[in-house]
Amino acid sequence: MRDLKWDIHEDYQRELQVLYDLFVYANDATPKRVQVFCPKRDNAGRAFWPERVVTVPAFVFNDEKGRVWSPRHSSWIDVPKKPGYVEYYLAHELAHIYVFDYHGLRGDKIDGDHGERFMSAFKSLCPIQWQHYEYEYKPDSARKSDVSVEGAGSHV
Ligand SMILES: [Zn+2]
Repeated sequence: MRDLKWDIHEDYQRELQVLYDLFVYANDATPKRVQVFCPKRDNAGRAFWPERVVTVPAFVFNDEKGRVWSPRHSSWIDVPKKPGYVEYYLAHELAHIYVFDYHGLRGDKIDGDHGERFMSAFKSLCPIQWQHYEYEYKPDSARKSDVSVEGAGSHV
C-alpha cells in the first residue's frame, strides 16, 4: 500500500466529506468505504486503488464560486460560476474506484483510463444535470458514451 499523505484544506474537507456521505446515501452505485480528501496543494483529482482513496483539489471548490458586478445593486454579487462542479468532480474520481472494484486494475487498462467502462460508471454516479462537465475534460469519450448534456449552458 502506498503511504498517502496531504496537507488537508480544512474547510473544503468537511464539505467534501458531507458530499461523499450524501452520494453513499442517495445512490446505491456509489463505491462504499472510500476516503475522500481535499489537499491544499494539488492541481488534479486522483483515485487510488486498492487504497480506496480519492482526492478533489481545492481549486475545484473555488471554481464553483464567482462574483459579478451588479450595476442595479451597485455592488458585487456572488453567482454560482460552475454549479455542481464539486459533485461532478467527486463523481468522476469515484467512477475510477467503481471500475477498479468491478474489473480490478486490469479493467481500467482495457479501454483506457476514461473509456467505455469508466463512462458507464460515471453516468451511473454523477447527477445528470452535472454530467456535461465531462465534455470539458474528455469530450471524445463523453460523446462516444452519450454522456448527458442536460444542464449545459443553463448557468452563467
Ligand atoms: Zn479521471
